[in-house]
Amino acid sequence: MKLDVNALRYLSKDDFRVLTAVEMGMRNHEIVPTELVNSISSLKHGGTYKVLKNLLKHKLLHHDSSKYDGFRLTYLGYDFLAIKTMVNRGVFVAVGRQIGVGKESDIFEVATEDGTVLAMKLHRLGRVSFRAVKSKRDYLRHRTSYNWLYLSRLAALKEFAFMKALEEHGFPVPHAVDCNRHCVIMSLVQGYPLVQVKQLQNPDMVFERIIGLVVRMAEHGLIHCDFNEFNIMIDDDEKVTMIDFPQMVSMDHRNAQMYFDRDVECIFKFFRKRFNLSFEESPDENDGSEVDTDESGRPRFSSIAKGVGFLDKELAASGFTRKDQEDIEKFIEGGIEKDADSSDEESEDGGRNSDSELNKSDINGVDSLHLLDQQEQTIHCDEEARVEENQENSETGQSQTSVPECPDASDKEEENQTMNNNDAELTKRLRKQNRRVIASVRGGRKSLASRNSYKDKGGSSSRNSKIQKQMSGW
Ligand code: ADP
Ligand code: MG
Repeated sequence: MKLDVNALRYLSKDDFRVLTAVEMGMRNHEIVPTELVNSISSLKHGGTYKVLKNLLKHKLLHHDSSKYDGFRLTYLGYDFLAIKTMVNRGVFVAVGRQIGVGKESDIFEVATEDGTVLAMKLHRLGRVSFRAVKSKRDYLRHRTSYNWLYLSRLAALKEFAFMKALEEHGFPVPHAVDCNRHCVIMSLVQGYPLVQVKQLQNPDMVFERIIGLVVRMAEHGLIHCDFNEFNIMIDDDEKVTMIDFPQMVSMDHRNAQMYFDRDVECIFKFFRKRFNLSFEESPDENDGSEVDTDESGRPRFSSIAKGVGFLDKELAASGFTRKDQEDIEKFIEGGIEKDADSSDEESEDGGRNSDSELNKSDINGVDSLHLLDQQEQTIHCDEEARVEENQENSETGQSQTSVPECPDASDKEEENQTMNNNDAELTKRLRKQNRRVIASVRGGRKSLASRNSYKDKGGSSSRNSKIQKQMSGW
């Protein structure tokens, strides 16, 4: 998928209003009925039609009329919403080249106003797993209630929360800067993934440091679960930094021992093969903690004294709950069948409310969406003004320095603040439209499908993200 942020420059306030409307509609609909988009965005008559056409042209939305007339966000559309929020918060001002393509993420450089380069990770949960089952049609019938938007957001929130907690406990991880939707901003690690390193001055020491990290994390009650040469960065001074945390689990997990042993095994295997290390002797003290090892020098899971409550207390405090953990685990462990519904922009959509049947929950959803819409609109205008101000006068443009503890909660806070400047006129208008939509939903579905039929000619975009050569700001 191409991330051409230049288009951001040309998107208007109305474009973002409609994009946000589709995002909000997706809380209850896999495909958001056109009528609902119209109603949430509440542009003046016919306004939404033009905007939708523009958003389709930029591939920020996908049009679907297979069951009824509607839209959903593409990854790119979701990227733009997250990027714009970050820019409005003053987290960064420009997006640069792509520096990594993970299994389920794309990583870009971004630059702050003072020229500091950070890393932006855009989560794409469901991408690989969906591809793996794309040809197996049977699976497509067994859809679960998760969609990629929700899962990618959870993955980002989890990664941000874990990175922050690990950092606070002195683990060598990137500095967690901010998080919004499926996007995590962190410090850029100077170095290379261990997989690219052919020689080390001190392989024994690096090895022990790395095994020491696995043990120390376990003592804090955590297992990385994907601890290997791809997720360990190393710099010229052979300093190690761990990355990639969305799959971490607690030491209480039912498969904890298997995950722990697997992480340890990956490191042993890699160092044996790449650096010819032999492990007859037990490793010495690891990072200050003495741990029992078996005859081959591998630390024993059973001998690790677990810290208490690290995962539950600290992570819940940063906004990542046990329920979130369960949801994401279900997806990660759920196997191929369950992955089938996590659609991406090339896929068919998953089944969540995807039928043309608009039921009671849709009607209730309309109410809550309107409320949120009102908040979003106010904040949106506010943010728009701020970003314009920043563009015009970059010296005086305010950079937000405080890092919110919990990204979603802080969004809500912002929204609530702006809600106080309640626009009575807007509320009245929304209520009126709300009633109209509810009436039209109750009165039958035909009207939803009959208006504004669009054709998305560029529906499926190229999978490979193009590396942007130049930093481009806006
Ligand atoms: P995935 O979860 O998709 O595997 P990762 O977090 O492992 O994604 O990132 C993929 C690649 O991107 C890494 O192997 C690394 O090369 C690069 N990368 C990720 N985060 C950073 C960072 N903070 N600084 C520098 N490079 C990074
Ligand atoms: Mg990785």
